[in-house]
Amino acid sequence: MLVSVQTPPHHSWKNPAERCMSNLNLGLQGVGVMRRALPTMEQKIKSTNNIKAIRELSNKEPALREEVMDAVQPAKILLGDVFSRLQVKGQNFKVFTAASKDDMVRLVNHLKKIDEEFNTDSLLDSSKPCKLTQKLKDFISEHCVCGQYQLSIKRCGAEDCVCGAPRTSPDTFADLHHLPFPIPQQEKYIHFEDLYGKEEAKVENYVPSKMQRAAQRHSMPFSPSSQKAKNAKMVVQCGECLKWRVCYSARVLKPDQRQKLERALDGVTYSCGTCFQNVSTDDDDSIFNAVYVNDKLTCDLPIEARDYVTFDDPLCYYCGSEDDLITGNSNYPLCNECNDAGKQPRKKNTRAFQPRQE
Ligand SMILES: [Zn+2]
Ligand SMILES: [Zn+2]
Ligand SMILES: [Zn+2]
Repeated sequence: MLVSVQTPPHHSWKNPAERCMSNLNLGLQGVGVMRRALPTMEQKIKSTNNIKAIRELSNKEPALREEVMDAVQPAKILLGDVFSRLQVKGQNFKVFTAASKDDMVRLVNHLKKIDEEFNTDSLLDSSKPCKLTQKLKDFISEHCVCGQYQLSIKRCGAEDCVCGAPRTSPDTFADLHHLPFPIPQQEKYIHFEDLYGKEEAKVENYVPSKMQRAAQRHSMPFSPSSQKAKNAKMVVQCGECLKWRVCYSARVLKPDQRQKLERALDGVTYSCGTCFQNVSTDDDDSIFNAVYVNDKLTCDLPIEARDYVTFDDPLCYYCGSEDDLITGNSNYPLCNECNDAGKQPRKKNTRAFQPRQE
């Protein structure tokens, strides 16, 4: 049995009360950090201005990765040292080192035991969505319970299964349940003991994206037209449903504004239903005074028609996937998976859709 739980992603605007952040901020008072200069690629890295550009550069320049890792090491050590001296309720913070590429390769290779044919590179390349094979999907549905913030894996008990025979006594194994999903009760949550093994706690219902109701109206100061989308020509990805959402701006962004926006978007985890203006900022110069997302969207809603007008990449209308698309001329792209799930091809909104002029 393995249970893994994560907190909501950092910078998530839906979870403003990230209490550990305020403690960490105490440790950061009066601390300045700076990376070292790269020995051979300083000029090249100076020409990039966001994480995406650095990643792209590292694909072309394999040595960049090592140099960057070395250059940020002193800052990491300093911050780790500061944080591990902080305490909450008498307990010190623990600082972990991030998994290295080798660690990830080793872990991912275990999946080969389930399906030899699984292409592990697709899992390690975080820039693309990973395609699970049918064998892996079957394994997950038989052994795992996955939620937005928690995952548990339990042996199935079958003798010939790759997961192996349980090592605990049969009685204990029979009493072992997946981690229950939390259920709110008044202002708090029902106790773990009262939920453990219970039917009602086997489905995740109480997470923001499932409880979300669409806002009555969006809070943008203009209506989200194709022109406003073309002005910004930028998308931001929802951390929960992974769909790309269109940014809108009243005026065409100047190159320096665009750079500013790219940098600002690097630093946030966006999710549908929020808007950039939820971040309280005293900065009059903030790019989010000019750029908006439609906060009426929820994770269940398909890709915005304006996405197709502003960008050329075909994406599945329902789930945003780029793979296995069925595209008809008069319909928005639809992926095989959504098609199999019974989603209907959606006719293009011809008013919003203008063919690109070459
Ligand atoms: Zn099994
Ligand atoms: Zn979403
Ligand atoms: Zn799809």
